[in-house]
Amino acid sequence: FACVKEVPMPEGYQYKRALLKLSGEALAGAEGHGVDPEVLASIARQVKKITDDGVQLAIVVGGGNLFRGGQAKNMDRNQADNIGMLATVMNALHLQDAFEAAGVPTRVMSAIAMPEVCETYIPRTSIYQLEKGRVVICAAGTGNSFFTTDTTAALRACQLKAEVLMKATKVDGVYDSDPMKNPDAVKFDELSYIEVLNRGLHVMDSTATSMCMDNHMPILVFNMGVEGNIERALRGEAVGTVVR
Ligand code: UDP
Repeated sequence: FACVKEVPMPEGYQYKRALLKLSGEALAGAEGHGVDPEVLASIARQVKKITDDGVQLAIVVGGGNLFRGGQAKNMDRNQADNIGMLATVMNALHLQDAFEAAGVPTRVMSAIAMPEVCETYIPRTSIYQLEKGRVVICAAGTGNSFFTTDTTAALRACQLKAEVLMKATKVDGVYDSDPMKNPDAVKFDELSYIEVLNRGLHVMDSTATSMCMDNHMPILVFNMGVEGNIERALRGEAVGTVVR
């Protein structure tokens, strides 16, 4: 499975293989925690459409709706991060369940082996699954404490030879200040990695941004709250901010 098969670009699309980073919060809906079945169903509908059109999709899912290791009080950080990584596996299984209900074949690949629950992440097997048209959900982060699922997304995008890392957020791109707090915040259409790092813009953490910079992996920051935006972004429509 080692080499990437040459597949034609799906009609009207600009990318044939993408990695989508979904934060745990993106699954939580208005509640802000837990998992909202309607949000899952909306994501599943969108994923069904683009994969039916021929796009190969890998997903890295976070766990912040359930547990964040770095924010746990009075806990050993390694232990807390292990719990955080297990939270991402729960989210991955929720996504798999919703995707399969929508008729999207899905594989969950965990960086921490748990063979009774899901497959173990191996890049070449994941690429094979993508080529077979299955959505690959990467769970358990990098398998290491002190990392984030943003960094996991950068790493998996490179390993799985994605053409773009799509970072789903609650706003429609990157702004010079928080648009939820400042009505005069200005949105960027395009940025360089170094601008993101030097200006301390909130795109992804600096480890994730540097990894994308070093490996020329474009980052597309867009609003997941609008149904259809994953497809629009993959078709090259001007949704969000591109970092390259
Ligand atoms: N985590 C980790 N190593 C990784 C990825 C994640 O230890 O490679 C842990 C960490 O505790 C983190 C939690 O998993 O707080 C959930 O991930 P993250 O905070 O990135 O989720 P998101 O903010 O995307 O929901």
